Amino acid sequence: MEGNKLVGELNEKFRNSSPEEVIGYFLKDFEGKTIFGTSLGAEDQVLTKMIADIDHGAYIFTLDTGRLFRETYDLLKKTMEKYTVKINIFFPDTSKVEEMVNKHGINLFYDSVENRELCCQIRKVEPSKRAFSGIDAWICGLRRDQSVTRFATQVVEWDDGNDLIKVNPIFKWTENQVWEYIIKNNIPYNLLHDKGYPSISCQPCTRAVKPGEDVRAGRWWWEEPEKKECGLHSSKEK
Ligand code: SF4
Repeated sequence: MEGNKLVGELNEKFRNSSPEEVIGYFLKDFEGKTIFGTSLGAEDQVLTKMIADIDHGAYIFTLDTGRLFRETYDLLKKTMEKYTVKINIFFPDTSKVEEMVNKHGINLFYDSVENRELCCQIRKVEPSKRAFSGIDAWICGLRRDQSVTRFATQVVEWDDGNDLIKVNPIFKWTENQVWEYIIKNNIPYNLLHDKGYPSISCQPCTRAVKPGEDVRAGRWWWEEPEKKECGLHSSKEK
């Protein structure tokens, strides 16, 4: 696949398309080769509803890092039941987690950016690469205004790190649009959102934010904003 050429053509094709049209295209034209990766965040819950409306059998995956909130597991169960979709759960390699925590400590991520990136690599990036095996297109819920690391997001991008197309159907949506859609469609969402957590990842790396703070201020709050990506969406992998 000539990735960058195809991405350019698809961005032109989808210039005025709705998220549902973009999703529908990939589920049909890349049938069996498209995967949706959900973190069960607000944006991903929107996409789960859109995808389920089109194809209940779409290939969906999530990552269980072993450090998630109880509320996230509850939402995973509820979402699968409500939309009758199968969300395939990928886990990190046990031996790598054991080696990492025994060498660097159980909460190594607070000690340095390198340690945090190592933990994200083992608990998130490597399991996601297994999920991407044999896949050509990855649907995800990135939005431009989520953070400084995502302002240049396009509807379709080439993901060099995973050698596949990354599809961002709601890349132009604002946070308000996401929540209007969730409320209007009675979509289940993580109860932590009601307790001041706009962006939710692993429990030790996520905190509530104060009114007016950036939506990603509660993620890895001890790091500089430019560093705050887990490796799944880093710019060098676009
Ligand atoms: S978010 Fe935190 S606990 Fe989760 S994988 Fe990354 S560093 Fe590890």
